[in-house]
Amino acid sequence: MHNQYLSFVDHWHEIAVVWSQVALYSAIAIFLYYNIMVLKCKRAAAKHQYMSKREIQYYWLTALTLCISLIFYLNSIMVWENTPEAELIWLFKLFVSISIGLAIAIFTNRYFYIYHPFNLEKKLQKLRFRPRVSPVTGQKMHLLTEDEEDVHLTLDMIEHEKINAFEYDVWIDDSSGYKLIEVYKGNLYLDICKKCNYRTAHETKEEIILDDYDLLVQKLIKHYRCYYCDHEQTKTAKLVIEG
Ligand SMILES: [Zn+2]
Repeated sequence: MHNQYLSFVDHWHEIAVVWSQVALYSAIAIFLYYNIMVLKCKRAAAKHQYMSKREIQYYWLTALTLCISLIFYLNSIMVWENTPEAELIWLFKLFVSISIGLAIAIFTNRYFYIYHPFNLEKKLQKLRFRPRVSPVTGQKMHLLTEDEEDVHLTLDMIEHEKINAFEYDVWIDDSSGYKLIEVYKGNLYLDICKKCNYRTAHETKEEIILDDYDLLVQKLIKHYRCYYCDHEQTKTAKLVIEG
């Protein structure tokens, strides 16, 4: 049994190198997959929606897989440098490499969920307000302001904007009158925290309750918690029941 164990340890560094490479290639594959999916979105609004929903998850998954690769690599080096003579030393090296990998993983997790949303938001804003070209005249279109756009929106759309469920952008080609309405999901992933002012408040719960005074009115309440400071906040909107 002991001999079997020693033989396993002898080969461990080779096994660890292989797993380190497998994890490394997986990280590259995850990162490439995400970028290909972004490129596949032809329209800016679709790209915007996909990035706002998925970028942080894919970046974090890539980083996590890289950390696993690092853990195996560090361990293989440690085992290789000094042939282990005792099981305890081998276990200790395993523990040290996992600790280093975990520390880096926790740090990158915090980075992607707390600080990366700023960079992502900047990228998304650029994408959203990038000039659109009219397919009719080939000229640049202009984006209407919130007040100007309302005449082009249905009552439902205006209500969606009020409760932040969706946001609509109306682009107009002045010479041909061609109109392009783009829809964005409201609260794109994260909202601004009222306490720390970072865009780190994520939705935790949504509830609809009846108004105490008017039976034809419901209240939609969205609950948020901040990733950064744990502050909790809500947003309330009135929904009028038709009929
Ligand atoms: Zn906060």
